Amino acid sequence: TAPVVTIDGPSGSGKGTLAVSLARRLNWRVLDSGALYRITALSASKQGVDLGHAAAVANIATTLDVSFLAGDQGQPLRVILGQQDITSEIRTEACGAMASTIAVYPEVRLALLQRQRAFQEAPGLVADGRDMGTVVFPNAQFKFYVTASAEVRAQRRYQQLKQQGEIVRLPHLLREIQKRDERDTQRAEAPLLPAEDALVIDTSELPALQVLDYVAEIVEK
Ligand code: C5P
Repeated sequence: TAPVVTIDGPSGSGKGTLAVSLARRLNWRVLDSGALYRITALSASKQGVDLGHAAAVANIATTLDVSFLAGDQGQPLRVILGQQDITSEIRTEACGAMASTIAVYPEVRLALLQRQRAFQEAPGLVADGRDMGTVVFPNAQFKFYVTASAEVRAQRRYQQLKQQGEIVRLPHLLREIQKRDERDTQRAEAPLLPAEDALVIDTSELPALQVLDYVAEIVEK
């Protein structure tokens, strides 16, 4: 079976950037599992499904007609739902909040499990998420847990949203991040915690390229 590198951690930790740049350097596939939760939430809300109804949302997750298209050099993957390009729509704060709400349902997590495992293909996979090393790919060859202080993550998220043209106040973002951290770490199903055998990296004071070099060196050795 193809090797897997798992990169878990909270949002804004820099794990998404790391996963994409590492996959590019290794020429491996990448799985953005957070996108699957975001797409499920968006799709459910577009179809008028009650986000409080776990079984109905899980049904959406099972039948999702989604594809990921490679973007241009340096660009993120394009996300296509049915015929519609929803790449930027799933990146909004509102969609992230909805994703985090439906991610607590065991039925939804189970529905997305096989879909995530199907990304494991030669020559290898870099899997980005919250439970990649603990639940989805427990036998992964390399496991990393990337984190940063809530303040640094709020600041990064602020810059990212500003680039997307979304204006959100920084103190509001910080509160949202703290709330989401709490929800993600306290939930009964697949709480956000480093796998026992994961290497923890705090990126609060590390530039992205330095993190990439560090991780790539370990994987390529
Ligand atoms: O990483 P991203 O911010 O896109 O994830 C959106 C939400 O989806 C997270 O807040 C988290 O609640 C959920 N998620 C999850 N498990 C994953 C990836 C994301 O529960 N593997």
